[in-house]
Amino acid sequence: MQAELEVLKRAFARRTEKMGKMPKIARPPRTPAEIAERRTEQALLRAEHIVTEEKTEPVPETLKKCHLCGGTNFRSVGTGKPSEVYSYVPGYFRRVVHTREVVACRCGGCVITYPSCQPRRDSVEQAA
Ligand SMILES: [Zn+2]
Repeated sequence: MQAELEVLKRAFARRTEKMGKMPKIARPPRTPAEIAERRTEQALLRAEHIVTEEKTEPVPETLKKCHLCGGTNFRSVGTGKPSEVYSYVPGYFRRVVHTREVVACRCGGCVITYPSCQPRRDSVEQAA
């Protein structure tokens, strides 16, 4: 009887200890499917509080100079390179998708992408 009680006590202690250590996440997902499911779930939860803004960054004319032929006759290539910047505004998350234009020289030897995106919060705030 006493031994049984001890076992129960220990089991209970172990359980509360476990719960204390892991307050929210029951256990880490193990399989890729579980991880994907979890990500989707979290993405959906977040999406409810996310405002998306899309901004296109055209390559400035001053950068459109081919280093091979010296030409300035560039054409747009594809849909550009998107990159996302998340910021938290009280109450919701804001996702800004910057799409950097990609241009190619007519000679085919030179491709220019809008200079790599740094989070330029200032300009984003002003534009908003
Ligand atoms: Zn060229």
